Amino acid sequence: MTPQTKAYAAQSAKSPLVPFSFTRRDPLPNDVKIDILYCGVCHSDIHTARDEWGGTTFPCVPGHEIVGRVNGVGRNVKKFKEGNLAAVGCMVDACKNCPSCEENLEQFCDDVTFTYNSPDKVSGGHTFGGYSQSIVVNQDFVLRVRSDVDLAATAPLLCAGITTYSPLRHWKVAKGQKVGVVGLGGLGHMAVKFANAFGAEVTLFTTSPDKAADAKRFGAQEIVISKDEDAMQRQVKRFDFIIDTVSARHDLGAYLGALKRDGTLVMIGVAPEPLPLPVFNLIIPRRQIAGSLIGGIVETQEMLDFNAEHGITCDIEKININYINEAYERMIRSDVKYRFVIDIASLK
Ligand code: NAP
Ligand code: ZN
Repeated sequence: MTPQTKAYAAQSAKSPLVPFSFTRRDPLPNDVKIDILYCGVCHSDIHTARDEWGGTTFPCVPGHEIVGRVNGVGRNVKKFKEGNLAAVGCMVDACKNCPSCEENLEQFCDDVTFTYNSPDKVSGGHTFGGYSQSIVVNQDFVLRVRSDVDLAATAPLLCAGITTYSPLRHWKVAKGQKVGVVGLGGLGHMAVKFANAFGAEVTLFTTSPDKAADAKRFGAQEIVISKDEDAMQRQVKRFDFIIDTVSARHDLGAYLGALKRDGTLVMIGVAPEPLPLPVFNLIIPRRQIAGSLIGGIVETQEMLDFNAEHGITCDIEKININYINEAYERMIRSDVKYRFVIDIASLK
């Protein structure tokens, strides 16, 4: 009999995460079975476990920043073999023949299966994520991980990394541009590192003055305390591109105002409620607001390889699974430096 997989789950929106166990499917011909070593903690895990966006099915096992070791493959799998390092991000399947899938943008497939809280088309029920000992995933959604990288610090790249890398590439952020990053959490600190690596001049907008020194270390040239209205006033029409990673309600007016003519504000943070849009700041002078969702599998592999090549990883705080509820509380207080990563060995 297949052994049970130990995990942590939220049983309701109002209850803390608690120990839970369930059975993963045996690998199908195209599946890879991975023993999970590390799983990053994304603010989306909190939004979902607490049903802040609506649509959460319980029990909910979050986690979509997964790094582990292959422990079995189906007979058609050629890319991976037992013992290889492997990673899984926010998606575990998609239709593979719609226009989005054909353009390597599986995240926009109408039939995408997310790593957790999606209907599980193979096993029934819904998908369970990486706060667990193992996962079984179709080989097309498994990423390669180089053996010379820090595995724990690599895990958050699977969401925080690709979610910031993808829009910076899509909007062609490069040398000579002035880029703003709003919020220095998991996503924000990677946005600062990538924008800096791509040659842009980076300013961090933060509510946390004590994060200034770290932001400079990550590559920000300037720090603006967003609660300081005078400092915000001085930013008017300075930026080509601003990436907003904030997880809670906040005012967009000042960030739109900080864009030059034709500048773009890209939303990647998803506050639980709709944000008011100050339209005058958009139409004068012809600014744009856009959104971006993670990134496709090909681009995720490109990002992992880019980071391994350039020595870019996440700044993390490694935790045991029994610290997860406290980690959530600290993230809500913006007190994370800069990603919690669960050592899955602590589930034993
Ligand atoms: P996180 O680590 O908790 O960081 C969020 C940061 O936002 C905080 O550290 C804080 O930075 C700032 N912040 C928090 N509350 C704020 C408030 N009330 N006003 C202003 N700033 C505030 O979260 P994360 O994991 O980076 O995720 C950020 C958001 O992105 C979440 O909503 C998440 O669901 C979303 N997300 C989206 C995608 C996508 O594909 N689009 C993917 C992953 C995550 P400072 O201390 O610097 O102010
Ligand atoms: Zn995430």
